[in-house]
This record gives sequence, C-alpha cells and structure tokens, in this order.
Amino acid sequence: MVVVKFGGTSVGAVPQIDQAARIVHSIYESRPIVVVSAMGGVTDALLHAGEAALAGQTQNRDDKLSEIRGRHDRAINELFKNRNIVHELQDTHRILWEEMHKVFTGVSLLREMSPRSRDLISSFGERLIVPIFARYLKEMGVEAEPVDAREIIVTSEDSEFLLVDFEETKKRCQKLSKMAKSSVVPVVTGFICSTPAGITTTLGRGGSDYSASIIGSCVKADEIQIWTDVNGVMTADPRIVPDARVLDRVSYKEAAEMSYFGAKVLHPQTIMPAVDENIPIRIKNTFAPDVPGTLISAETPLHQYSVKTVTSIIGMTLVSVEGRGMIGVPGVAGRVFTTTARNRISVLMFSQGSSEQHISLVVNRQDGDNTVKALRREFEQEVDRRRIDRITSVSDIAIIALVGEGIKGVPGVAARAFGVLGSANINILMIAQGSSELNLSIVVRQKDAPRAVQLIHEAFELNK
Ligand code: ADP
Ligand code: ASP
Ligand code: MG
Repeated sequence: MVVVKFGGTSVGAVPQIDQAARIVHSIYESRPIVVVSAMGGVTDALLHAGEAALAGQTQNRDDKLSEIRGRHDRAINELFKNRNIVHELQDTHRILWEEMHKVFTGVSLLREMSPRSRDLISSFGERLIVPIFARYLKEMGVEAEPVDAREIIVTSEDSEFLLVDFEETKKRCQKLSKMAKSSVVPVVTGFICSTPAGITTTLGRGGSDYSASIIGSCVKADEIQIWTDVNGVMTADPRIVPDARVLDRVSYKEAAEMSYFGAKVLHPQTIMPAVDENIPIRIKNTFAPDVPGTLISAETPLHQYSVKTVTSIIGMTLVSVEGRGMIGVPGVAGRVFTTTARNRISVLMFSQGSSEQHISLVVNRQDGDNTVKALRREFEQEVDRRRIDRITSVSDIAIIALVGEGIKGVPGVAARAFGVLGSANINILMIAQGSSELNLSIVVRQKDAPRAVQLIHEAFELNK
C-alpha cells in the first residue's frame, strides 16, 4: 500500500488534474490511498474572502468567492463531457456553496473571525477538489471514492496545541485500508481534520503533507509519496538559488531540520509519523514523473561536502535578555523557557553566551511583543535590582540554517560560513548549533537573507 499526496499546483487546473490522475492510474496495482490539497491558491483566496468579510467589504468578498467558484466550475466542465456527471458534481458542490454562503455571511454580520472560523473557511478548498478528482479517476477506470478527512484524522482533547490522536486516527484509518484492499482508491482531503467533538480544524498551512504521513503511518504504508512541482528536495529553495540541485537521498533527521527551518517542500511535522513506522518518503515531480526524485529515509550516504542544504525562514523576531548581574545566577535560562511555555510561545532558536551575560531567543514575529512583555514581567525584580539591564527585541529577522548529517565532526564549517558572510558585510546577530550537530543556524537581518543563502550555497559548492 502506498499513500500518494498531490499538492496544490499538481491539481491547479485541468491539465494538471489529468496528469495527477494518470499517475494514480499507473500505480493502481500498488493500492494507493490518495491525499489531495486544494487547487493552488484557493486556500489563500478563501482566507482573503474571509478577511474581506471581516472588514465589511461585501463586494470584495463575493468577487473572491465567485473567482473560486469559477475555477472549480471550469474544471468540472472541461474534465467531463458527460452532462450527467457534470450535474452530479454540481449537486455535490451546491451543498458546499450553501455552507460557504452561511459561513461567510456569518463573518460579515458578526465582523468577527475566530481561529475556529478561519479553520472552517480554509477547509473548503480541499472539500471542493476531492469530489472532482475522485470522479475523474473513475472516468479513467480507477475505482475511487471521495473521503472527508474530518472522519479520519482526529485531534486530541487539548485543542490549543494541535496534537493528533494517533490511536483514534489509526482505528478510523482502517476504513481506508479496507477500501484500498478491495481496490477502491480513497481520495482523501488533505490539510483538514476534526476535534473529538467533531469541529473542523486544520493541520496548519501546507499541512496536506502531514495528512499524508499521518495516514501513511496509521495504515503502515510501504511508502509515502509527495507529488509536487519540483524534482525533489533541493540544496536550497530554487526561487532563491536558481542553480540549486536535487538531492537523491536525505535522512529523516535532515529533512526534519530543513523543513523546520523553512524548506517549504515539506510541512515540518511530516517526518515524525514516518520515522515512527520507518516508512520511506519520496518526493516526486508531478510534471516529470520519470525523474527519480528524493528518497527520505533513516539512512543517507554521507555527502562529499559536509553541508547538504541551506534554508531560510523569515518573519522572525530576536529577543535578548542582557545583564552582568545574571552571571552565576542559577535558573535564568530555565525561567525564560518556563515563561515562553506558559504563554504558549514557541522558541525556534535559543542561545546563551558562555559568560551568562546574554540570552537570546528567536520567536515568530507575531509572538515578539508578547515574549518581551512576558519576560519583563517574569524578571521584574531582577530588572529593578539591575541584575538584568535590558530585555529587548529586534524584528525582521531571518534564520539561515545549514543542514547535513556530515556537519558532525567536520571542522571549519562555521568558519567558512561566517567568513563568507563577513566578506559580504552581512552582520551575524546570533548563532546556534543543535546538539545533534546536524545543523548550524545563523540569525541575520531579513533583508540580508537571500544573499546569505546564495553565498553559503556557493561557498560550500552545493550546486556540484
Ligand atoms: P505543494 O503545493 O506541492 O505542496 P509547495 O509549494 O508547498 O508545493 O512546496 C514546493 C515548493 O517548495 C517548490 O516549488 C519550491 O519552490 C519550494 N522549496 C523551498 N525550499 C525547497 C527545497 N529545499 N527543495 C525543494 N523545494 C523547495
Ligand atoms: N491547502 C492547504 C494550504 O494551502 C494545505 C496544503 O497545501 O498542504 O495551506
Ligand atoms: Mg506544500
């Protein structure tokens, strides 16, 4: 059994849908379970329509919604010559359009969009495309049925931190295995899931990759395939480094680090479920299916160069706690972490100077102000007594991460990276090396990030 996920560009319009369906057809024998994302750009458009409703811009809201409707209607009309099928799909969609109408009217009337409303609004993209894709497979002679992932993937009770209830999800995935075993291809909505009370929620932006690996691990698939618009995992984001190269093999650890630090090709949480069951993940290009792609698994042959990829993540804020009075005071770092945890702020990077005079952490921009406020409250007494001189933040920060199993034990990686940034006058604000030694992270100003990525890519000859 294999789980096969198609991203937004792979189902973005009729020729792409046709191409993706042909791929499923060609692997029908290996009993695929298919996971599909919304048509490219639809989730964004839905959220923009939501923002318009929130702002009271009814016309703008309706324009966005008609655009979405137009794309799906066109796809249906172009894909199916048989009018009965067109009507059948229009009936299925009518129910969704009616629900959307109610939801968006609700936002317009209340002028309020809670996280729960946002999740429901963003769920429609996947729910609209799945019936079309499943029906198209049927036309091709592949027995297929649409499946709403809200019946399959369930989160645990604590909904503030989204955690998947794997035990319950595994039980519900039996339905998918049964279908696959009887040669019916389940076509599952990516990205969406539900709480134990049945409320619609999502796995976060780009979360369809995670849907595929959750399902893959629950059905113990032989492989999880992520079909996208590039030939595989590359040495850098090809939009930043045009001569980035495709990697044949990447380890789970490397893939997890890269996606955590901004490689959009995989949602950061995709790796864990696959690791648990030791299921290989293959990244493939929908538009070049013969290219072998990238295999992500437990092992990777060491690359000739110690660094394998360089990624960047922007939109960060750097928060610093400084003061000579911190020297020798135990527990400052511990209290920093307790404070961020209590306020549900996730810390992407942390470093403490060996002199203990300086603690720095990187958080998402939207958490920046909150982090400073919470730390000032926590260390109020220390600030009063001048043990801590200041707690400050700098926004518009980026993290550049050099990732590769080979970094371990290879001297000079940091020196080379710092050297090349130094000669280009790019100021380094903070550095950290994971204890796994798999990753070297460098904080720079956001405006310097693309150049920094290009320079490091070049310095480590990653294009060769
Ligand atoms: P999908 O819609 O298929 O999920 P995404 O847009 O989410 O596709 O992810 C694929 C994109 O990720 C590529 O088009 C590429 O621009 C980007 N990307 C960023 N970093 C990398 C990388 N290191 N390797 C490959 N692609 C990357
Ligand atoms: N459609 C969702 C998004 O745009 C999920 C995904 O593409 O993986 O974020
Ligand atoms: Mg994606």
